[in-house]
Amino acid sequence: MSLLEKSVNIIKGIGPKKTELLAKMNIKTLEDVLYFYPRDYKTHPKICGMKSVISGEIVSLCGKFEGKPKLIRKHRGLSILEWTATDGTGEVTCIWFNQPYKARQYNTNTQYYIYGKAVRFYGKVQIQNPIVEEYRPSFHNVERIEPIYSLVEGLTQNDFRNLTQNIIGIIEENIDEDLPEIIMRKYDLAGKAYALRNIHYPQDQAALEEAKRRLIFGELFLMQLALHGQREKRIKKKNGLLIRWDNDAMADFVRKLGFHLTGAQTRVVGEIFRDLKSNVPMNRLVYGDVGSGKTVIAAIALYAANLDGYQGVLMAPTEILARQHLETLERLFMGMEVRVALLTGSMAKREKDRVKELLSNGEINIVVGTHAILQDDVEFHRLGLVVTDEQHRFGVRQRATIVQKGKKNPHILVMSATPIPRTMALILYGDLDISVIDELPPGRKPVKTYHVPSSMRSRIYAFICRQVELGYQSYLVCPLVDESQEIDAESATEMFNTLRKGPLSNLRLGLIHGRMKADEKEEVMSSFQGGNIDVLISTTVIEVGVNVVNANLMVIENADRFGLAALHQLRGRVGRSKDQGYCILIADANSDNARERMDIMVKTNDGFKISQKDLELRGPGEFLGLKQHGLPQLKIADLLRDVDILNETKEAVEEIMELRDYEYKNAILQRAYSKFNRSMGEVVLN
Ligand code: ADP
Ligand code: MG
Repeated sequence: MSLLEKSVNIIKGIGPKKTELLAKMNIKTLEDVLYFYPRDYKTHPKICGMKSVISGEIVSLCGKFEGKPKLIRKHRGLSILEWTATDGTGEVTCIWFNQPYKARQYNTNTQYYIYGKAVRFYGKVQIQNPIVEEYRPSFHNVERIEPIYSLVEGLTQNDFRNLTQNIIGIIEENIDEDLPEIIMRKYDLAGKAYALRNIHYPQDQAALEEAKRRLIFGELFLMQLALHGQREKRIKKKNGLLIRWDNDAMADFVRKLGFHLTGAQTRVVGEIFRDLKSNVPMNRLVYGDVGSGKTVIAAIALYAANLDGYQGVLMAPTEILARQHLETLERLFMGMEVRVALLTGSMAKREKDRVKELLSNGEINIVVGTHAILQDDVEFHRLGLVVTDEQHRFGVRQRATIVQKGKKNPHILVMSATPIPRTMALILYGDLDISVIDELPPGRKPVKTYHVPSSMRSRIYAFICRQVELGYQSYLVCPLVDESQEIDAESATEMFNTLRKGPLSNLRLGLIHGRMKADEKEEVMSSFQGGNIDVLISTTVIEVGVNVVNANLMVIENADRFGLAALHQLRGRVGRSKDQGYCILIADANSDNARERMDIMVKTNDGFKISQKDLELRGPGEFLGLKQHGLPQLKIADLLRDVDILNETKEAVEEIMELRDYEYKNAILQRAYSKFNRSMGEVVLN
């Protein structure tokens, strides 16, 4: 066992109680301590003469106390202790509140190091609650940076510094370099032991910066390298299904879509075709903003597999979307020999069993469902392609689950409208190939967005009525009351009843929310789709994917309760044809953050810009929930702040992947995997 794997209690001063407190911080071994980086630092500047002290600055001084300390007792046990020190150039008065014992700790014969914030008070310089230590020239007369850690109650900074100081003393012999030498040299990176020492006890500011850079670089590099290594393994295995199809049949299908594919769609289809025809299992993310036409791309890919006798899966995040996809596919494959079926959690057991049976004997060609079908004991006759729609939260873990469904590795296509800033995509989808649909179908107009206060509600209702008169339909999304669907459903129902009796009594209203039974939801959605409902009052169940082309108005109540990503998705439900779409955000936005979000929505329709802003407002951790991706939390790197280093690591990873010396490269990759898998816990990539 390496010394670093030993328990913290081998350090003097760490007894059972402190061991327990450390365990609360998830710190058990010396190694855990070493990788628990300071939250901040305290800088002790070089010593200056007392005469040249500037009020308001943190200063380091050296001097002797003079005369007797003065203790002033106030009522209720409060006390103030004053003692003046001098260094020959000038003097400062040290002041301690409620620490009368300090008078006994120091004397007038000793040179002291005095540290604290200088304040001028009636012409005299004071330092309140200074740090006073016996002066040691070699230690005190240089700039020193002290670590400050985030600790639980009961542990002091000194306790923890005692730990880190002890460990720093032994790291040189116990730390292995984990970055390849060529990379360290090229990017001028410090050694790991040096970085760890200086992240805790920086020699000076420059050393601290160097240490940070080295550790951030290491973290980002190793994570990306592990993901890229996985990708390469997949590619190397060449165990993908070679799919071949009849080009004429495909051309015929594309011709009958009812529109021409956009240039971007054509390009992406080409990229997918290349994957399907190769012996490498596809693992591709298709990113396209809301309304860019991803569904048809899924249909084309599924059809390609089908033409070669392979089954396909299309997974959606919600039941409503799954049903819509079912209808779309049924329409596209009408009159053709492609049998499409639905499989969702809410279906009756008998129905489900029937679908499963037909899937396992190959009678069903394409199954559409929610990802609940992943958990079920679904078996396929000849699975060739799995498409997941609107699943940016579709992590490494889930991808591994699906792959196991096929006897051979099926091809995987992930579609998402959640634009992930490029920097994040590098990390999250390092093991995926990415295609971007960067073009909307022709004639689309940007949705006009307005932010209005709730006091204007009656005018909004008038606007809804006018749109209905013009032959359009509207969505009205009720406030997100709570995480609970129950309460959201209640508020939507209430809104529905109020509007039906009052302001919108002349219109045909529909209600949909998550608490309704699946077939009730289906009835409402198909009624809305068929134009038999003018205004659909809804919760966020319609947030993603829903495509009712004739709906041109989206009204969102209490819009400030929604995050930017959700607002962008909701707005994406309209403006899906050549006609002008509108989005009205009702919000009495009080906080700056809320106002900023509304402003962004009004100003731009660009999903990338919105997500970048979302990332800034929420921070990377929240933004995507790194954990849900099955990826480890970053310890020191910050995807927002460290973009420059991230770009360097990306380049560095590419350099390693291109190495010809396979043995050397493999050794580097193995090291990255072991690190990566350890921090990923039970998630093991295959
Ligand atoms: P999303 O990318 O948001 O999933 P959809 O696939 O639902 O978008 O497509 C939105 C709408 O645009 C659908 O009605 C679809 O039929 C239509 N569409 C897709 N591609 C084109 C195209 N190339 N030209 C015209 N309309 C298109
Ligand atoms: Mg879609």
